[in-house]
Amino acid sequence: MSVFSLADRRALVTGANTGIGQAIALSLAAQGARVTCAGRRACTDTVEQITAAGGSAEELILDLADPMAARDLFDGEEYSILINNAGIIRRAESLDFTESDWDDVMDVNLKALFFTAQAFARACLTRPAPAPGESRGAIVNIASLLSFQGGIRVPSYTAAKHGVAGVTKILANEWAAQGLNVNAIAPGYIATNNTEALRNDPDRNRAILERIPAGHWGAPEDIGGTAAFLCSPAARYIHGAIINVDGGWLAR
Ligand code: NAP
Repeated sequence: MSVFSLADRRALVTGANTGIGQAIALSLAAQGARVTCAGRRACTDTVEQITAAGGSAEELILDLADPMAARDLFDGEEYSILINNAGIIRRAESLDFTESDWDDVMDVNLKALFFTAQAFARACLTRPAPAPGESRGAIVNIASLLSFQGGIRVPSYTAAKHGVAGVTKILANEWAAQGLNVNAIAPGYIATNNTEALRNDPDRNRAILERIPAGHWGAPEDIGGTAAFLCSPAARYIHGAIINVDGGWLAR
């Protein structure tokens, strides 16, 4: 079997109805995983695309505005892959930033990510330990360039994504020895709903493109392929890494 195969694996992707989450769900399914497409709204389009391609998928309503929403989700189930992708962003000057814009972003982007990982790991780690050197499961957290850089007018998003990088490392430290791989992907500028306002602003769009060595926006599929790799046996010795998929942005 290919070292990139995800056959017989069960995966849950949060925020799988659109954008990066949808592309990750499609990529995992293409490698053979049975994918639960979780969203605060129905993920019907994602499930239809997976099944039309011959894959296996199901929908789940999961609103992570309640950071504990996934508390009991993994009990008695055989999930071995969790993709913590759901995220929101609020833009305002730090002088004007509101408490709700702080709390809402921290809850979905960081607190829910941690407690969903905790619930997943509690179930995953009760299963028999793998042979030494083998993986029993994988968590991939979606970080950001703003896990490393400050950004502007997005204070809660920057704080949360720096937190995602830190949480990825501590969970890897705690769970690597038990065969659970925890890593993150830091996407660069990817064309999704999240970035539509930036792409529609000619000045911002030009400035962004001038700084990306690859010279173009990334596609959600660019993140999908990286996520599938990080969940596969090929990545079994990768722990606590934050992989930049950014067209070279952070290398500038
Ligand atoms: P997107 O198209 O806006 O997708 C965000 C996803 O998160 C959607 O499925 C959204 O559902 C879901 N979500 C938001 N709030 C949720 C909640 N309370 N419960 C459950 N799901 C919720 O944006 P995207 O670009 O694909 O973003 C995906 C991830 O990549 C985010 O973590 C984002 O921070 C990160 N990221 C994106 C970029 C980029 O350039 N696009 C760069 C760096 C990092 P709804 O459709 O219902 O809103």
